[in-house]
Amino acid sequence: TPRVFSGIKPSGDLHLGNYLGAIRRFVPLQDTHETIYCVVDMHAITVWQEPEDLKRWTYEIAAAYIAAGVDPKRSIIFNQSQVMEHAELSWIFNCVARMGWMARMTQFKDKAGENSENVSLGLFAYPSLMAADILLYKATGVPVGEDQKQHLELTRDIAKKFNHDFKKQIKALGHKGDFFPITETLATGPAMRVKSLKDGSKKMSKSDASDLSTIYMMDDADLIAKKIKRATTDADALPSEAAGLAGRLEAENLVGIYAALSNRSVDDVLGEFGGQGWGKFKPALGDLAVAVLSPIAEEMKRLVADRGEMDAILRGGAERARAIAQPIMADIRNIVGFIR
Ligand code: ATP
Ligand code: MG
Repeated sequence: TPRVFSGIKPSGDLHLGNYLGAIRRFVPLQDTHETIYCVVDMHAITVWQEPEDLKRWTYEIAAAYIAAGVDPKRSIIFNQSQVMEHAELSWIFNCVARMGWMARMTQFKDKAGENSENVSLGLFAYPSLMAADILLYKATGVPVGEDQKQHLELTRDIAKKFNHDFKKQIKALGHKGDFFPITETLATGPAMRVKSLKDGSKKMSKSDASDLSTIYMMDDADLIAKKIKRATTDADALPSEAAGLAGRLEAENLVGIYAALSNRSVDDVLGEFGGQGWGKFKPALGDLAVAVLSPIAEEMKRLVADRGEMDAILRGGAERARAIAQPIMADIRNIVGFIR
């Protein structure tokens, strides 16, 4: 069976974008793939994290996977830092990837801002660790939001360069063809890039200042309804088909969220709401968001209350992850020329 890998950083409270762009899509893949879902704590510390927050968010994200329907028996759930091969392979990839490749990453430019001399070296090298996360398991599919497309292209570039640079050694090891697979981005459907409720040109993010722009998975029902009610929109009625949303960023965002939450197409949703105003649509969206998110939030709270149980799940997941990673890492050491 093909293998998928995905991860979320414990760098803040989970929001609707993380749910729609990633977590909810983890669940059905369990039927068709071997699934590895990681809490990428080593990525989180590329910017400063209070250690106590880092721990709390690590538990919360693992709990969110499970609460949303990821089964810790079928899927491998663990936190990245427990499998040290991630760090080892990322170092090798630091030596495969080129400075210029990293410098082109738009996420780095966004996160570093004006002050790029003062951000951590880890933030710059981040995509190399991400490539290691995926290729350590030779995963062929990665369910992530649209914002990660560029990083996955870089993952493919690293895989290709490694396959090319070490062609002779890979062959000598008895491999026919490439050592690393060329990973595919699994990002289809509506709401692959959920926008801020206050600015349709910005994506919803964990690391953004809270206010009313972000719906958090742990928000209570009243707060979710209030945030949607106050979401910025234009004054026009909803169009009757998807093409009518062109150029209406905020409208496109809210309708896309509705479609994703209800597992319907955008056209189908507009078939119902086309011609109506926001006064009708927003309360319906609020109710739908609460109906989907509230039971998950309740289950998350129940799960994080038992840290002993969460520790056992993460430890068990790490063991299973290591069992896959170690033979692959042994081959890589061999290929590169490291003696054991
Ligand atoms: P940060 O601001 O710390 O980068 P984030 O909200 O971007 O946090 P990540 O941990 O970087 O979250 O990403 C976790 C997953 O959530 C990735 O698959 C990413 O593509 C997805 N994701 C993040 N934001 C959105 C969004 N607004 N819409 C859809 N998917 C998203
Ligand atoms: Mg992000």
